[in-house]
Amino acid sequence: MKDSIVGRAEKKVVLVTGGASGLGLASAKRLAEEGAKIVISDVQDPLSNSALERIRTHDPDVRYLHHDVTQETDWQSVIVEILDQHGRLDGLVNNAGIGGNGGPIHEMTLDSWRRMQAVNLDGVFLGVKYGIKTMLENGGAGSIVNLSSILGLIGIPNAAAYAASKGGVKLMTKVAALECAARGDNIRVNSVHPGFIDTPMVQSGIQRSGDEMRQFILAAQPTNQMGEPIDIANGVVFLISDESKFMTGSELVIDGGYTAR
Ligand code: NAD
Repeated sequence: MKDSIVGRAEKKVVLVTGGASGLGLASAKRLAEEGAKIVISDVQDPLSNSALERIRTHDPDVRYLHHDVTQETDWQSVIVEILDQHGRLDGLVNNAGIGGNGGPIHEMTLDSWRRMQAVNLDGVFLGVKYGIKTMLENGGAGSIVNLSSILGLIGIPNAAAYAASKGGVKLMTKVAALECAARGDNIRVNSVHPGFIDTPMVQSGIQRSGDEMRQFILAAQPTNQMGEPIDIANGVVFLISDESKFMTGSELVIDGGYTAR
């Protein structure tokens, strides 16, 4: 393990899903700054040049792949592409996700419930499955980081589908971590639990609610402010790097104190 504070992800091949915007893009950029070889995947086509350029400065070989995380065949072809380009996978950030206020449970449609689980939970299941399989084939080492949420730890009204998906991510992470540890693999699996962070997902919620959501967030935050994507990206870098080598099955909460009460 290195002592230096730069190059913390040096030469690690890392896939970031949902990497076209928000926390995924910020994490990909921070990882590239720390020396990682980045593949970002998303359903946003074409990816804006400015997004890719931000990473290319640090990783000239950065690749963007079209990838719907709900589709198993997409996972299979993305893994083939990564192995063709780099020959291995060292890190996976299961970041792709959708938000949205489903309203109270008794008014929620089964379709909206299922859509949320498909992206936020099935997508992470497939990621963990193919991440572990691929890492096992390249020496049995790696780090998988799953984006859960404070809503994987606590509930708030009108967020049943989202909270259920993120709670599922939290516990699937622990099971995967224990399975890897029991086999003696050097594959770590951890979850990150962001509080309210200023990204396009949160901004669209604020716009839909006519600013009511912003007032709710700021009133509920002990620090009276939202977080920035870099706050989460720094946590992701730590979990991908060997600095967190004794962490697996853990919940990294980055929420400005939201869940401290
Ligand atoms: P975002 O909307 O800015 O980015 C999410 C990305 O995922 C988008 O680029 C989108 O195109 C992509 N995506 C959506 N569906 C996809 C699919 N089926 N396949 C592949 N890509 C898909 O959102 P964000 O705020 O950056 O959120 C990133 C992750 O962090 C999500 O899992 C979210 O639930 C979680 N999170 C965010 C916050 C927050 O406050 N922003 C808080 C807690 C957890």
